[in-house]
Amino acid sequence: MTSCSLNYDLHTHSYFSDGVLSPTDLVTRAHKHGVAVLALTDHDTTDGIDEASTAANALGVRLIAGIEISTSWAGHTIHVLGLRVDPTSRDMQEGIGKIAAQRAERARDMGRKLEKAGIPGAYEGACALAGQGIVTRTHFARFIVESGRAATMQQVFDKYLGQGKVGYVSAEWTSVPEAVGWIRGAGGQAVIAHPARYRMTATKLRKLIQQFKEVGGEGLEVAYGNYSPDNIKTIADHVRHFDLMGSRGSDFHGVANQYAEVGRAPALPGDLTPIWKDW
Ligand code: AMP
Ligand code: MN
Ligand code: MN
Ligand code: MN
Repeated sequence: MTSCSLNYDLHTHSYFSDGVLSPTDLVTRAHKHGVAVLALTDHDTTDGIDEASTAANALGVRLIAGIEISTSWAGHTIHVLGLRVDPTSRDMQEGIGKIAAQRAERARDMGRKLEKAGIPGAYEGACALAGQGIVTRTHFARFIVESGRAATMQQVFDKYLGQGKVGYVSAEWTSVPEAVGWIRGAGGQAVIAHPARYRMTATKLRKLIQQFKEVGGEGLEVAYGNYSPDNIKTIADHVRHFDLMGSRGSDFHGVANQYAEVGRAPALPGDLTPIWKDW
């Protein structure tokens, strides 16, 4: 970030999904770190937006109503960010309501699998940590770390929760076109979250981006919290090739972990059109 450009952080989580902070604490922390424009993009829920807006108004932060929707595409889980969505959109709420039901069922299945693997009480533990928010693998991982069965979240994913591990339950989320449709229907802009993180070939990633653009997707997350310079270069090239826009976000989850601090992400390459161009 140069001193003249505003700090846009368009990818963050609160405890309404798998972040640690309340929306108010998230906005307060973002403000302290110099964020001028902040999107709250919880996984599959907009429940934190009202509280975040109130906190942002009080501090002079511009709050962007966002969401990070879980989708399935060609056997991969792809996260699609919706920015400037109307949280009251009926279609979007109906859609994410279905995801919430799927998540609840998956959590019970995960609990049963973990129990068989010698970890009792994980379902109850994860639900307690999720509180009023949606249940994610992060909550299971936190429970397993807190109960002393693993040292780090990474270890839990490597041993229990990653794809193909004993506690893993595969899920067929909504499709990319459907998620983009909900976002557009809610007046928002769709951005593929952390495109360099998906374990797929370059050819497959191009195919994903092509289809995403065909159904009305507008941007790729180019400047991501913990991308390498090489990641940024690769994704920026895709933005240029497909004539899309670039987004910037930390993916802050609320604590010092594998994710960046709120407001911390590399700068967007200067020749790209930022997703916030017309905001
Ligand atoms: P879910 O959407 O329930 O499948 O949970 C996915 C969440 O788990 C992601 O949003 C990440 O925050 C978290 N996650 C995925 N992989 C890891 C990992 N290796 N270490 C820590 N957290 C992870
Ligand atoms: Mn997460
Ligand atoms: Mn994500
Ligand atoms: Mn995220």
